[in-house]
Amino acid sequence: MPRLGFGVWQVPDAEATAAVETALAAGYRSIDTAAVYENEAGTGKALTGSGIPRDELFVTTKLWNHAAETWTREGVLREFDASLERLGLDYVDLYLIHWPRAVRDDYLTIYRTFEEIAASGRARAIGVSNFKPAHLERLLAETTVVPAVNQIELHPFLPQAELRAFHERHGITTEAWSPLGQGKDLLTTPVIAGVAEKHGRTPAQVVLRWHLQLGNVAIPKSVTPSRIRENIDVSGFSLDAEDLAAIAALDSGTRLGPDPDEFD
Ligand code: NAD
Repeated sequence: MPRLGFGVWQVPDAEATAAVETALAAGYRSIDTAAVYENEAGTGKALTGSGIPRDELFVTTKLWNHAAETWTREGVLREFDASLERLGLDYVDLYLIHWPRAVRDDYLTIYRTFEEIAASGRARAIGVSNFKPAHLERLLAETTVVPAVNQIELHPFLPQAELRAFHERHGITTEAWSPLGQGKDLLTTPVIAGVAEKHGRTPAQVVLRWHLQLGNVAIPKSVTPSRIRENIDVSGFSLDAEDLAAIAALDSGTRLGPDPDEFD
């Protein structure tokens, strides 16, 4: 799985094709979409029209589990088929449960169906998103396939040390969503601006470099071609211990998104 991917949340379907084409031209090979983003079709169009061999692409999509229903095996299979059809692909590289929605108590059923999908080869790997240690513990105890990935909110304001340590113990890859803190306060914070100036890089490049040095997979989003290119151009420098300590001090535990325990 590439360490840097391209996320397309909030990119309208009509703009997704151009954005993903720009990303592919810039060198991204991993694309992160989801059923609920309503841009699987536009994303898939760029992927299938790119001429890039399928086995060089890494495509992630997610099951939206917030419908006012509790998922059954049949419902999950139907949703997965619909995602593949919209993408125009016959398999995805990674299929994720978007949120644990623990209150509905259906993630074990969903995950067991994901195991079936993985066994059929139509998802090369399966995983989860927004799972906390308690959700993962239950999954590990009651299902067979260790999730390949847990995609979680993670940026310098919310570095998720506990979850990253848990993932490391269990061989789960940590994938950071909103890796740039949604481009808001994080990128203008003086610590990040200072480190960027020191290395002659941009704040976004510093934050993405931080993710890579922590061992995270990161999936920054942009629809601006120059930023799409900037966000994958993060080699050729590294953060030193002083930079890492300064960034570590930004941990405020602040979430931009909901708490997974409360989100239904
Ligand atoms: P992000 O942290 O990637 O920030 C994106 C925003 O930052 C852009 O809209 C833009 O305003 C700004 N930006 C991007 N590049 C920049 C640059 N070089 N310089 C200055 N500003 C820049 O936020 P995100 O879109 O929330 O997260 C990335 C991806 O993570 C999403 O597109 C999606 O694929 C995934 N995601 C998943 C979940 C989940 O529940 N699993 C939730 C949110 C996001």
